[in-house]
Amino acid sequence: MAKNIAILGSTGSIGVQTLEAAKNLGIRVSALTANKNIELLAEQAKAFKPLMVSIAEQGLAAALADRLKGTGIEVYSGDEGLKAAAEIEGADTVVTSIVGIAGLVPTIHAIRRGRNIALANKETLVSAGEIVMAEAVRMGVTVFPIDSEHSAIYQCLAGNRKQDVDRLILTASGGPFRGKKRHELKDVTLSQALKHPNWSMGSKITIDSATMMNKGLEVIEARWLFGFMPDMIQVVIHPQSIIHSMVEYKDGSVIGQLGSPDMRIPIQLALTWPERAGNPFSRLDLLKCGSLTFQEPDMDTFRCLGLAFEALEAGGTMPAAMNGANEAAVALFMEEKIGFCDIPRLIEKVMLAHNVNTMAGLDDIIEVDKWARRMAGGSVCI
Ligand code: NAD
Ligand code: MG
Repeated sequence: MAKNIAILGSTGSIGVQTLEAAKNLGIRVSALTANKNIELLAEQAKAFKPLMVSIAEQGLAAALADRLKGTGIEVYSGDEGLKAAAEIEGADTVVTSIVGIAGLVPTIHAIRRGRNIALANKETLVSAGEIVMAEAVRMGVTVFPIDSEHSAIYQCLAGNRKQDVDRLILTASGGPFRGKKRHELKDVTLSQALKHPNWSMGSKITIDSATMMNKGLEVIEARWLFGFMPDMIQVVIHPQSIIHSMVEYKDGSVIGQLGSPDMRIPIQLALTWPERAGNPFSRLDLLKCGSLTFQEPDMDTFRCLGLAFEALEAGGTMPAAMNGANEAAVALFMEEKIGFCDIPRLIEKVMLAHNVNTMAGLDDIIEVDKWARRMAGGSVCI
């Protein structure tokens, strides 16, 4: 059980819920970081009294320091600040709840300092899963998933032998456009894409859920977290988001994990595992949740899911290229510079242009990410 944590990305959806879980568990919080939101970061710092806070935008550091004058809390900024938070003295666990590739390097710093990782930032494992997991093994640290599907699989695998597993079954809600065909998605607006039926999350992951890239990212995340080959990972649409994922064993037994769709439950488990703490948040009432249904994903309409399987198949730096292109495309869609259907189009274009490097180190992956963003951005201007 974690006793002392640092939270990278404390002002986001996962970050805020992690603080609720930390309060419930009585866990000490030693460092908090955010991108731009100094108001919320200062408020959190006053409530949780960490040793330090850091703001990614360097220009905002003075204003943050001003808000925290007299508290004794140290104020950092930029990459240095993220590194300091990831390595803060006293913390045993670092919660990685930054969105996007920005979470990768600080996660590596934390692992190299011997910190356990409570991992929400899936882009880290999508881009550099092999490197990150090898580093975790080398340092003897645990990477415990916060993502609800992966938390479910972790629980369904516990106490069983890996060689008895037939497949991992990742459930997906299908997002706001489940059941629609490709031609019906042409004129989808930003506000329609931002309305997730079951979960309230940050904007990037909400768009990823609408394109189903989120499930694609999760397939790659599962591949590296659990060490199963891509053909052993299946995606099933389960619109109610009650079964968070399952594992099917050789003997035909399927073990699933159920719970109300509330991220505080997997967040708390990532901090207490293998123990379980009381839950003052929400509980599942089976008598009220109605029918549970399952469908095959529509890979033709939701092209992003297929692209993720293709990236995993291509291996090496392809998932990093795909992830960088997706981040750039989602940002362009959120700025209303491209349409919803342009997201998979841009990603595919970048993937087709990418020369896979199968021997890549961390620096190569960071370069590929930058290249993929440039390519995706450049494709729009043409
Ligand atoms: P969010 O947008 O609500 O929060 C992101 C956090 O990261 C904020 O604190 C923000 O200040 C910080 N941040 C953003 N860009 C940064 C940068 N360049 N440098 C430093 N800090 C930066 O996102 P979220 O929904 O909380 O998701 C966070 C991560 O968790 C994502 O990788 C997402 O895929 C994953 N995840 C989220 C949920 C969920 O329910 N929200 C569920 C599963 C997994
Ligand atoms: Mg998930």
